Amino acid sequence: MSIETILKEVFGYPAFRGPQRDIIDHVVAGGDALVLMPTGGGKSLCYQIPAIARQQAGLGITVVISPLIALMHDQVGALHEAGVQAEFLNSTLSWQAASRVEQRLAQGDITLLYAAPERVTTPRFLEQLDALYTRGHLSLFAIDEAHCVSQWGHDFRPEYRALTVLHQRYPGVPRIALTATADALTRQDITHHLQLQDARLFISSFDRPNIRYTIVEKRDSSQQLLRFIRDEHLGDAGVVYCQSRKKVEETAELLCDNGIGALPYHAGLDARTRQANQDQFLRTEGVVMVATIAFGMGIDKPDVRFVAHLDMPKNIEGYYQETGRAGRDGEAADAWMCYGLQDVVNQRRMIDESPADEAFKQGLRGKLEALLGLAEATDCRRVRLLRYFGEPSAPCGNCDNCLHSPDMWDATDAARQLLSTIYRVHKMSGFGFGAGHIIDILRGKTTDKVAQRGHQAISTFGIGASVSEAQWRSVLRQLLAIGAVTVDAQAFNTLALTDASRAVLRGEVPVQLRVLQARSIERKVRQRLTAAATKPVAMLDRAGQNRFAALKAWRAEVAKEHNLPAYVIFHDATLHALACAAPQSLDDLQGISGIGVRKLEAYGAAVLAVVAGLE
Ligand code: ADP
Ligand code: ZN
Repeated sequence: MSIETILKEVFGYPAFRGPQRDIIDHVVAGGDALVLMPTGGGKSLCYQIPAIARQQAGLGITVVISPLIALMHDQVGALHEAGVQAEFLNSTLSWQAASRVEQRLAQGDITLLYAAPERVTTPRFLEQLDALYTRGHLSLFAIDEAHCVSQWGHDFRPEYRALTVLHQRYPGVPRIALTATADALTRQDITHHLQLQDARLFISSFDRPNIRYTIVEKRDSSQQLLRFIRDEHLGDAGVVYCQSRKKVEETAELLCDNGIGALPYHAGLDARTRQANQDQFLRTEGVVMVATIAFGMGIDKPDVRFVAHLDMPKNIEGYYQETGRAGRDGEAADAWMCYGLQDVVNQRRMIDESPADEAFKQGLRGKLEALLGLAEATDCRRVRLLRYFGEPSAPCGNCDNCLHSPDMWDATDAARQLLSTIYRVHKMSGFGFGAGHIIDILRGKTTDKVAQRGHQAISTFGIGASVSEAQWRSVLRQLLAIGAVTVDAQAFNTLALTDASRAVLRGEVPVQLRVLQARSIERKVRQRLTAAATKPVAMLDRAGQNRFAALKAWRAEVAKEHNLPAYVIFHDATLHALACAAPQSLDDLQGISGIGVRKLEAYGAAVLAVVAGLE
């Protein structure tokens, strides 16, 4: 079969996405490849289709090395659903089950074998590979999550380093390494440690056009989150990231109390609870996972409709990785973050208090400032994100700033007043003060503390009474972002000037800020955005919506019977296309994306019956 035929008949997809065709052609022909593609870009097909094509050509099996043991069962299940011979070998299999797989391996009737890296490099497994190799039945190695080889990456796995044995022991067997981690250092490490110097490099655009980026001011984050979910994502699957375990627990509880099915996930929960919550998130529809960043690596659930950050991540890399878990199926999805001054202060403190050396800390501060710059930006968020990863682009039309360009005000004078107050207060009292007190002085509030310290005598007292407290905080964040103010974590989070303050004080740095929107306006804007979004169900007429709901219910049954997540049976997009088309015959099912030959055979009649039952 040609690779187009495999794409259509096995996977039921009408066309390749992005660079898939080039990559697949190259690997089918026996070339080595290093593939950098964002999450949701479609990496799996880049080795699955070559595996099938090369097996058909008599070249034998493909070994897929993946660190994600917990997900292998579902990945292999998805291939079974498509009619592909696939198995996995890892520590979750019983001894008997493992030896059955080994037998089939020896007989060569497996197309894809998934295995954990520590398994692949055992003498026992290598001997089996030796036997296949001698018979010419070892077709391809696919090394997934290849960034695990790099200690610069976020999930260093020392076992990955041992994978060079594959190259040395089985010369001539092509290798494809894949990752969504794009930075140059990690890429160099992969090339070096996996000896992929001669591999062809495929770098995709890292843009995720279906994800809409929104970053809002933190007021009352729990209520803001609740509103966001209620207004825009009721019944959707989503991930909410929080900084601390405590906040994870509280937020999950709050959502549950408000009728939103939410589960907690953090490293403090025992392994069984974590696994159970993850399974439920994958298998039940519309679950919201509230988690620390301990959650997410390798979660390939395609229909996560939103990722919300209740606290600011450490840097843009983390933000992009986490938000990238939304909308892998290519349908509209939201990345929503709320952040405030306290986030900035906390992150700064964590860096300052860490035991790392000063140069390293300086690097971390730079990364935090870049993220702050993104949060405070008034121009296209996506342009900034992609620029950070070295990719030029034009305004996207699908982020909050593009959809509703924020009103701006000239805060140059306000910034000077703020810095000048920090300076004068320090001069008068001999030490610094925190943000709240400085803002009180600017707004002319005679609090006890102000009176006690005699700070109403300062010349800037009351000078900024017409600027709201929230707006003053935004001025301060901006100054923190450009490094014109620092927070001294060693001294009760007091504010202090820096070398960069001088230019701002002299009025040489124009400070443009977004006008903070009243809550009611913010809400209206969001509603307008939501109306513009193309949510699948929204576009169906009444009868179509009924079909969609009935198909979903049917899918849930099948998924349960097969002990697999629902999306492995059919994606939402496929159900949506079915609900639209109202098929009456097997012919009508041809060409619907996501229905290959095997699924047509297995489910065609049942789908028709579900649709007919509603007529
Ligand atoms: P990655 O591993 O790069 O994050 P996946 O391989 O999991 O992405 O693919 C993401 C989703 O896109 C999957 O649900 C997959 O079925 C789907 N997909 C991949 N390639 C295509 C294609 N050519 N046409 C339609 N859907 C695709
Ligand atoms: Zn934009």
